Amino acid sequence: MKLKILGIAQDGGVPQINCQCKNCKTSRTEGVPLFATSLLVERAKGKSTLIDVSPDIKNQLTPTEFNGIDSIVLTHAHVGHIGGLLQFGFEIANKKGVNLFASPEMHSFLQDNEPWKQLFENGNIVPCKFRFEETFALEELRVTPLKVPHRDEIADTSGFILEGDFKKVLFIPDIKNWLVWEKDLKEEVSK
Ligand SMILES: [Zn+2]
Ligand SMILES: [Zn+2]
Repeated sequence: MKLKILGIAQDGGVPQINCQCKNCKTSRTEGVPLFATSLLVERAKGKSTLIDVSPDIKNQLTPTEFNGIDSIVLTHAHVGHIGGLLQFGFEIANKKGVNLFASPEMHSFLQDNEPWKQLFENGNIVPCKFRFEETFALEELRVTPLKVPHRDEIADTSGFILEGDFKKVLFIPDIKNWLVWEKDLKEEVSK
C-alpha cells in the first residue's frame, strides 16, 4: 500500500487567487504551488482511495492515478475538501460507480443539493455512509471516522484514523480548535 500526500494548503491553495502576500508572490514567480489538503491511498496496483477531493485535483493526480480511484472518503463540506468532485461528473471524466464514504449529514447535503446531486443521479458516485467511531474496511485499508468540531454550518466534520501496512495515520485537515476536541491530541498522536 502506498500513501501519497497530494496537498497541505488551506482550501484556496498557495498562491491564493486574491492574495499578494510575500508567500503567494514567491509561489507565483518561482512556480511552486501548494495544493489544498488531500491524500491518495493506493491500496493495490490501480486501486486507490482518495481522501478529500480538493479543487486542485486536476493538478494533483496523474491520469493513471485518477483512473485508479474506486473510492472517496470525505471530511466535510467546505470547498477545499469537495470542490474537485465535479471532475468525476458528466462534463468531465464521467467516471462511474465510485463509492463515496461520508457521514449521513454529509450525504444529505450532497444528495439534496446541485451540483453534487447530479453525480449520484448519473451514477458517478455511489453513496456509502459511515458512522463515527465505527471502523470500515476497503480491503486492507481500515478507516475509523472521528467527529471533529469545526464550522459545521453545512454538515458535520470528520477526521480519520487510517490503518494499512504503513504507519497509522491521523488525518484531520480542519478543526475549530484542538482544545475543544473531545479527544486529547497528544494522546491520539502518540497512538
Ligand atoms: Zn498569500
Ligand atoms: Zn473547513
